[in-house]
Amino acid sequence: MSKTISILGSTGSIGRQTLDVAEQMGLQVAALTAHANVERMEEQVRQFKPRLAVLTDEAAAKDLTVRLADTETKVIGGFDGLMEAAVISEADTVVTAVVGMVGLRPTLAAIGEKKRIALANKETLVCAGELVMDAADAAGAEIVPVDSEHSAIFQCVQGCSDRREIKRLILTCSGGPFYGMTYDEVGKMTKADALKHPNWKMGPKITVDCATLMNKGLEVIEAMRLYRLPLEQVDVVIHRQSIVHSLVEYHDGAVLAQLGTPDMRLPIRYAMTYPERGMNPAEPLDLLTCPPLTFAAPDRDAFPCLRLAEEAATEGGSACAILNGANEEAVRLFLADKIGFHDIPRLVAEARAKVPVVHRPTLEEILEADRAARQVVLGD
Ligand code: NDP
Ligand code: MG
Repeated sequence: MSKTISILGSTGSIGRQTLDVAEQMGLQVAALTAHANVERMEEQVRQFKPRLAVLTDEAAAKDLTVRLADTETKVIGGFDGLMEAAVISEADTVVTAVVGMVGLRPTLAAIGEKKRIALANKETLVCAGELVMDAADAAGAEIVPVDSEHSAIFQCVQGCSDRREIKRLILTCSGGPFYGMTYDEVGKMTKADALKHPNWKMGPKITVDCATLMNKGLEVIEAMRLYRLPLEQVDVVIHRQSIVHSLVEYHDGAVLAQLGTPDMRLPIRYAMTYPERGMNPAEPLDLLTCPPLTFAAPDRDAFPCLRLAEEAATEGGSACAILNGANEEAVRLFLADKIGFHDIPRLVAEARAKVPVVHRPTLEEILEADRAARQVVLGD
């Protein structure tokens, strides 16, 4: 059970919902970090009174220092601040809610201090999942997933002491806004179309990842790393209603599922209360009024990003870091209106073809694979 938290990425979608949960549960907040959102950070600091506030953008941090001169909160700018927030002594739990692989080094630092990691930042596990899980095992640090599918699986494996009893994990996928379209139809979709997710309100990067199905590909890799299972034991099924958050099939034929209304405050709260359960912060699920639950196979031809992620997962080594780095840059270009929707998988495939894969990579080799993949996408 968490008592004092540090939130990396507090101004984002997950960060704000985590603060809602913290307020409801009466948790202490030791540190808050964001990139450049000065206004929202100032509001959050005045409400939650952390000892430390960090903006990684140096100019924004200077502005924040002036605005918070009348408070007790210390302000730090730059990446060093993010690292300090990750290891702040008061916090027992670090919520990793930054977007992108920038979360990797702070997550490793927090693990080194034996903090509980409430893990939303999936890119970290995708790039360096083996290193992160090995570090957590060595330090005895708990990693409790916040991503709704992985929280569902985490809950469905409680009481399973022997992972060999698991036949497969089944990740559910909403299908995103372009579900049912052909490859050619998907190619005509714009940024505005991609940013309309049917069931969840999230940050822009993950919303685009949901439209390409790269999000589900990243989640397949995330699940493989969290549960140390091969790709053959992680399946994806389309479930438009986002009510069954994921399932675990055991060898004896039992299939356990976790259901709930689509509200991220539920898995966030579970990551705080685990191994206990708190009160529902959201609308309860009513099976009699919720829509019929349907399931279908994903279309890997219309959405090639899912296949690209599965191929990287099979290859292993630094392949997933290359995939992720290329995807982060391609999505950034798509959000800046510089490329079209199908350019995202095209650029990811190009980076995968050009950047050599290193097996059993070190942290430095992972960071280098990420950098090389971004360079391919940016064309320099
Ligand atoms: P948002 O874009 O809403 O928020 C991102 C947060 O990270 C903001 O606080 C932002 O600060 C900060 N940030 C952005 N870039 C940097 C950087 N370079 N250095 C330091 N901080 C940075 O993202 P989400 O909350 O949607 O997602 C966060 C993570 O959680 C992602 O990994 C996502 O995949 C995962 N996730 C999200 C879900 C959701 O429902 N949103 C569901 C499951 C997983 P600023 O505001 O100043 O830019
Ligand atoms: Mg998810």
